[in-house]
Amino acid sequence: MISVEEAVEKILSFIETLEPEEKPILNCLGQVLAEDIYSRINIPPADNSAMDGYAVRAEDTRGVGKASPVVLPVVDEVAAGYVARKRLDSGTSIRIMTGAPLPEGADAVVPFEDTDEMEHRLPLGELSRIGVLREVRPGANVRFRGEDIKEGARALEKGIELRPAEIGVLASLGYVSAPVIRRPVVSILATGDELVEVDQALTAGKIHNSNTYTVAAEVIRYGGIPMILGVGGDSVESLDEKIDQSLVSDMLITSGGVSLGNYDVVKDVLMKRGEIALWTICMKPGKPSAFGMIDSDGRRLPHLGLPGNPVSTMIAFEQFARPAILKMMGKKAFAKPSVEAIIDDAVKNTDGRRIYTRVAVVRRKGKYHACLTGPQGSGILSSMVKANGLAIIPENTPGVKAGDRVRVQMLNWSEDSIMEE
Ligand code: AMP
Ligand code: MG
Repeated sequence: MISVEEAVEKILSFIETLEPEEKPILNCLGQVLAEDIYSRINIPPADNSAMDGYAVRAEDTRGVGKASPVVLPVVDEVAAGYVARKRLDSGTSIRIMTGAPLPEGADAVVPFEDTDEMEHRLPLGELSRIGVLREVRPGANVRFRGEDIKEGARALEKGIELRPAEIGVLASLGYVSAPVIRRPVVSILATGDELVEVDQALTAGKIHNSNTYTVAAEVIRYGGIPMILGVGGDSVESLDEKIDQSLVSDMLITSGGVSLGNYDVVKDVLMKRGEIALWTICMKPGKPSAFGMIDSDGRRLPHLGLPGNPVSTMIAFEQFARPAILKMMGKKAFAKPSVEAIIDDAVKNTDGRRIYTRVAVVRRKGKYHACLTGPQGSGILSSMVKANGLAIIPENTPGVKAGDRVRVQMLNWSEDSIMEE
């Protein structure tokens, strides 16, 4: 049995980052930038006002104060989106709005609140002079041309993930589309003669195929595009046909059929169609997870075989499928966020494997506590519904006692997923 870390490393050694595609910027959210982005313009393109106020020459305000204002004629008014019609001569002012280009000749802006404008109470445009009540230095309340991003500078670095801020920068640079690493198409195959589709009535011995849906939802959550292949039976022939369909995708994820049972044929198919790189991992649940490469006419498709029990499927997905999807998308960081918590219940480790225990992490008096979410059978999917994290009980230990500190891999990481008690 190999450790989870060794398995992840091995899997990732077979996974390659996908090629770039050019997409409208808004469709790039969450994808990784495939090339450096250089700015073709200055941002802002021109010196402009950071405040609503009066454009002036700073030297005209030298030494002024509330008791000794300087009174300047107002010769023009300029709003954002327009250019002043007049240049600013010494001893004059131009009324200016935030974002409007600084008039030629001006070097500072006096904000409204530092003038006596309120006292005049005249309709805008009729104000003919203004008292400046406070000295300004050259450059005060001015945003300079190129101060955010200079023409020719690298504005965004290849390899970063595009979040709303980066998409905003692309927009301000005038990019309609951007080059990003494409999202992987992940084909999903459930195996088991007992499975029927969700819209079918259950007959004796049958259960609904739920793994396809948890896996597809996880694929979407981490940025991939699921391609659902439906249910394959427990025979090599029926899986063969489905695997043929998966060859157009970037990775195949199967669930079920990887244990030691008579009908666990996924490994047989893998062996026949390619090579198995690993099988059986020192973890609970999730031990029989398998990974290999399917060969087809020179094309090699990564195949991750998850165990069929719904909780095992999800936990093994988090450890193995998620990093693979992220690597294909060009991401560099694969670790889930984790916290240290005090575990409220004892967990025995009887066979030395690493246990991923479903817990609800709560905060009590500023400390994280992890409480088990009920029975931990790997078929009990509702225990995942109640969980926001997986407490890690280390391998080769007898387990943990109530009150011990444990590391919890957070499945959901938002403040509102952690309740205050
Ligand atoms: P297996 O790994 O094929 O031995 O399956 C282990 C358990 O998981 C069995 O009880 C299966 O019925 C169940 N199982 C397998 N595949 C699915 C699925 N797609 N949806 C729900 N349960 C499943
Ligand atoms: Mg099965």
